[in-house]
Amino acid sequence: MCRKPIAVGGKLIKCSVSTCNAGRVKLVFCSAACWDSHLPNARHRSAYFTEEKAGRPEV
Ligand SMILES: [Zn+2]
Ligand SMILES: [Zn+2]
Repeated sequence: MCRKPIAVGGKLIKCSVSTCNAGRVKLVFCSAACWDSHLPNARHRSAYFTEEKAGRPEV
């Protein structure tokens, strides 16, 4: 998981896999390369990422 702060309004990479996306901790990445380095750990069989704009952090 990326620990870099992502600026509000900045680009945000989200993993498409539901286990990464639907847990209490939502995984987000600062870049495609960053997401790529997550794949070996997560062992996704098929995955892609989506780009979003970072909004205000959810509380
Ligand atoms: Zn993932
Ligand atoms: Zn990152």
